[in-house]
Amino acid sequence: MTPAGRSSLRFLLGGVLAALVLALLIAVVADALAGWSALSIALILVALWQTRQLIILADRLQVAPAPGSPGLPAAWERTLREATEQHRQTSTTLAAVEAHLRSFTVAMNAVPDGLLILDAGGRIQWGNQAAETHLGIDLTRDGGAFVEQLVRNPGFVDYLRNPDTQLPFILQNSAARARLYALRVVPLSDLNKLLISIDVTDARRVEAMRSEFVANVSHELRTPLTVVSGFLEHFAEADAMSSAQQQHFARLMSDQATRMLSLVDDLLTLSRLEAEDAPASEETVDMAELLRQLHSEAQSLSEQAHRLEVNCDGPALRGNRKELHSAFGNLVSNAIRYTPAGGTIRIDWRVRDGLGIFMVHDSGVGIAAEHLPRLTERFYRVDRGRSRDTGGTGLGLAIVKHILLRHQAALIIESQIGTGSTFQAEFPAWRLQTLE
Ligand code: ADP
Repeated sequence: MTPAGRSSLRFLLGGVLAALVLALLIAVVADALAGWSALSIALILVALWQTRQLIILADRLQVAPAPGSPGLPAAWERTLREATEQHRQTSTTLAAVEAHLRSFTVAMNAVPDGLLILDAGGRIQWGNQAAETHLGIDLTRDGGAFVEQLVRNPGFVDYLRNPDTQLPFILQNSAARARLYALRVVPLSDLNKLLISIDVTDARRVEAMRSEFVANVSHELRTPLTVVSGFLEHFAEADAMSSAQQQHFARLMSDQATRMLSLVDDLLTLSRLEAEDAPASEETVDMAELLRQLHSEAQSLSEQAHRLEVNCDGPALRGNRKELHSAFGNLVSNAIRYTPAGGTIRIDWRVRDGLGIFMVHDSGVGIAAEHLPRLTERFYRVDRGRSRDTGGTGLGLAIVKHILLRHQAALIIESQIGTGSTFQAEFPAWRLQTLE
């Protein structure tokens, strides 16, 4: 018992004792009946007095005393003070717990992975915002509900009951169809378990792209290798092959070897470009001189089959000469390869609206609009046969896109089937320079 409690008890016992003494005195002085009556009245008074103190105490616990309001005896005041102090301490602890809970909720909601606590029966007890998004649930509405009734996905219920500790369950969210989540169940105690969900959409996409890329490269290399090995078998078997035939086969094999070499070269260029964000070095590139070089390369590629127009009206360009040469060269070689003999190819460098514009225009086969957004993807081809026949690797525009990105330039493609195509690279103004 606290000192205040002991003091209150002493006060009460003192009151009762005083009533007894008083009643005894009256019984001695008067008679027994008067004594009993006096004792009853005294005890009633003590009870009434205690009740009054209790009422005042109850009032004082609610509100602070008004000036002039009835006071309490010292023992009761102490009880009141202790009760008030305890109440204050409880309120402070409660406020601290609430503050901790708030910051915990904020932190848990900032976690990108979904966290959902379930009871042993699978009822939702608590969750963070990511869990709501991943599982398509609303915790305010669905708190206490069975998660298996909310997440309708084949196999989910079985996984929840018998979770595999090694393999996660892959969930396709019905609300956001395109996204994939890996779910894992972690037991917390006999009473609770934690359901963790991780967004694996991007990781899966990268994995799919990687396997697609490996399949593409294997396929691209397999075709020329099959041709070469076929010819080699022919060589081994045909004793009576004329030297003209031998030369013919050797030329065909050399073509295939060149094709494999260009593919490997393009792959190496692409992986180097992807490995570094920026060119190793930059210089002031003399565009007039670069365009002259492109012109002469175009002439040897075209073998006089096309009309070539070259026009240089712009200043020098800040950038990596080797990379710019590779990007522009790819655009020019595409224009020649996809333009039938007799067509025109125009190469142009000028300033428009403050931007440096490198343009290659051709009057070739053109490209249907639906292919335009995908042209810079690796191995994307509109006409596979034509690309191969003209020595294409399917990587040219992917390389162009990377190089332009590294030079903060945009690639704009306009084309019409049967009319021709225009490929434009737009360089920012700060890359335009005058030659020293
Ligand atoms: P490829 O080695 O096959 O030419 P690219 O990446 O350079 O690969 O080009 C991708 C595809 O874009 C080509 O296969 C071709 O279908 C199309 N293409 C590119 N340039 C032109 C052009 N100037 N005219 C028509 N089609 C083009």
